[in-house]
Amino acid sequence: MTDLTGKPTTTDSGAPVESDEHSLTVGAGGPVLLQDSYLIEQMAQFNRERIPERQPHAKGSGAFGHFEVTADVSAYTKAALFQPGTRTELVTRFSTVAGERGSPDTWRDPRGFAVKFYTTEGNYDMVGNNTPVFFVKDPMKFQHFIRSQKRRADNNLRDHDMQWDFWTLSPESAHQVTWLMGDRGIPRTWRHMNGYTSHTYMWINAQGERFWVKYHFKTDQGIEFFTQHEADQMAAADTDYHTRDLFEHIRDGEFPSWTLYVQVMPYDEAATYRFNPFDLTKVWPHGDYPLIEVGRMTLDRNPTDNHAQIEQAAFQPNNFVPGIGPSPDRMLLGRLFSYADAHRYRIGSNYQQLPVNAPKSEVHTYTKDGAMAYRYTTDPVYAPNSKGGPAADSERHAPPSWTADGEITRAAYVSHPEDDDWGQPGTMVREVLDDAARDRLVDNVVGHLLNGVSEPVLQRAFEYWSNIDKSIGERIKEGVRAKADEKDPKAAEQGNPARSSMQDKA
Ligand code: NDP
Repeated sequence: MTDLTGKPTTTDSGAPVESDEHSLTVGAGGPVLLQDSYLIEQMAQFNRERIPERQPHAKGSGAFGHFEVTADVSAYTKAALFQPGTRTELVTRFSTVAGERGSPDTWRDPRGFAVKFYTTEGNYDMVGNNTPVFFVKDPMKFQHFIRSQKRRADNNLRDHDMQWDFWTLSPESAHQVTWLMGDRGIPRTWRHMNGYTSHTYMWINAQGERFWVKYHFKTDQGIEFFTQHEADQMAAADTDYHTRDLFEHIRDGEFPSWTLYVQVMPYDEAATYRFNPFDLTKVWPHGDYPLIEVGRMTLDRNPTDNHAQIEQAAFQPNNFVPGIGPSPDRMLLGRLFSYADAHRYRIGSNYQQLPVNAPKSEVHTYTKDGAMAYRYTTDPVYAPNSKGGPAADSERHAPPSWTADGEITRAAYVSHPEDDDWGQPGTMVREVLDDAARDRLVDNVVGHLLNGVSEPVLQRAFEYWSNIDKSIGERIKEGVRAKADEKDPKAAEQGNPARSSMQDKA
């Protein structure tokens, strides 16, 4: 082969190879030899190139950048990365949720918004979405929810009937479904969407005072979206549109940025707030807890090896640093386990030693060995010891804590006066959306329901939307009935055979 680099091809062990084109044979027409180790290495390594894709959030891409603190939030947290003027390197990954690794970027779906800050006190990971709320509020329901969004057992197809069956039997999903079916359900690019932690976290200041916080990364590019029609066109024209857009803008020096704000709730207010502030299906109205500026995140460097730097990037919300901790949000508490567990399965037990995941601060851990251990272990390998090994410091690093007591039980959250499922999505429909956005919401829901949703799920979907807003519910019902009566040409266009069963029953 022509040598363009001046460097000879080598085996993985570094020995020069004779050919990238011909395997070793007995005569030109004879059998291929087992002693051709280079050929065998090529075939065997190829067979092992793919690692399991993420269960949700399989399709995505990311970039490197930095976070600069532009304001002073030291009254609320002692975390080093949020002190005035601090600059912290980071890696991000954006993704869809339900689609597989090759699925279109422009499917209607929430988007993952994950950030790993390489702080001086260890890695701090934020595993957010482009929505401030989520479909369910208890980790027991998460697996079921994701399965309802993925593929059926029999025909291996995604199925709107399955999705609406789950949603309408889970009224706590109403806020997120309203969001999903609206304009923000298909961002135009990843640069044109916000990121939210959605979860509530605890911040602790230098005096030990505690606060509850929610993070909002607001896009400096402005919010832009695709209509359903535009997104459908783009899914066919460029499956990887969002991936391409991010990469090309960074490559061309047009670095996207987001301004980070937080909402801060004093610790004691949580108990008496009008709804449960740890409920992941609710926002904290801006009128009650206004946004407070923290700093700016800028993405300015593309990966050079997408597999090593993005596919193997392992974000986990249990990566906290001093001054930041969890809250009683049940979904967050479940995710503190499940993310790291997923990485151990997908990447291997020493995934935190890979360059993209390794902290830039010093690591003094007693964790050792395991497959592919890369960091050298030194003695002593146990604690406590009298041999000069690292020692935990309970004086300086007390765990973030909150008051919790009661009998062990399986029950809904402690209730607050305004804990209903329909109020906030109703406010969004009536007070946040304008007429044109409401029209698109109705069209999007009608189109979705016409695509394979059958009775009795369909009837429940009408009631679901009427609970959110009576008028929107009426319009959706009328829209579905009218189009079903027309023997909807749209379904034929989309080639969805499941559609006909709905028509028959509607
Ligand atoms: P506000 O009027 O103070 O805030 C409404 C917020 O809605 C805006 O700041 C914007 O958030 C967001 N928004 C604007 N257009 C859309 C859209 N088409 N789809 C989704 N979100 C949009 O009211 P409240 O804080 O009292 O909240 C009212 C409702 O607004 C909530 O029930 C919730 O559905 C929605 N909302 C609230 C947020 C919050 O944190 N309080 C955040 C986002 C939505 P942003 O600037 O973050 O884009």
